[in-house]
Amino acid sequence: MDEATFRFYEELNDFLPPNHRKVDFQCAFKGRESVKDMVEALGVPHTEVDLILVNGESVDFNYILRDQDRISVYPVFEALDIRDATHLRQVPLRQTRFVADIHMDDVVKYMRALGLDVSCDHRLFPRDIIRISKEETRTILTKSRKLLKHKDVTHGILIRPGRVVKQVREIINFLSLGKDVKPFSRCLACNDPLVKVAKVDVLNRIPPKARALHDEYARCRACDRIYWKGTHFHQIKRVVDEILGSKPEPTDFSLETGIQN
Ligand SMILES: [Zn+2]
Repeated sequence: MDEATFRFYEELNDFLPPNHRKVDFQCAFKGRESVKDMVEALGVPHTEVDLILVNGESVDFNYILRDQDRISVYPVFEALDIRDATHLRQVPLRQTRFVADIHMDDVVKYMRALGLDVSCDHRLFPRDIIRISKEETRTILTKSRKLLKHKDVTHGILIRPGRVVKQVREIINFLSLGKDVKPFSRCLACNDPLVKVAKVDVLNRIPPKARALHDEYARCRACDRIYWKGTHFHQIKRVVDEILGSKPEPTDFSLETGIQN
């Protein structure tokens, strides 16, 4: 029989028997076993897993185990203590979502402008933010170390002081969110995805100047705001381009939606 050492992190431990929780443990196997089959045989549904490291290298579910492998298994939800490992991840399995602390307005605005799912409500207390983080598997964005040190917080990112361009770029790079970026696909006000609407259907809600200049419109189904590519859109797009490191080119719109003027 061959043998591999497993270690499961964060809430994945909830699926394990007590003697396997938060410790290294050995598992014997025979023949060709994929890491996915072994993880599931140990009781952890593969849908809960986002990152598997074998001997420190990121692998996919089809990896075939070898004798003496060391396997670290991390949950879908981003955890603070995988900070050093996340750069190994090529393609996250699930979309990452966020809940923002108060005093994060610029970060929230530009992350939403990039199409990232960021829940934010100024009426929330820290305990609400922690609850939403757990219930909706959202990573907390905060400037407060105190909040992140709370015993119930499992997933969060500390936002350091600085320009919003740098702050947002760090979040995107840190969590490898490139594939989730879809500029101008989400409502800046309420975070819901936008849908295209025909000009004729919103004609009576558009100021005459915009009506004359713009033919593409989008609407938020949640809050009913109408978006188009007006002055405000171009202001935001300049920052979005800077975050993404692309040169501003006003003519390169392949965008599905605009921003309310
Ligand atoms: Zn909205």
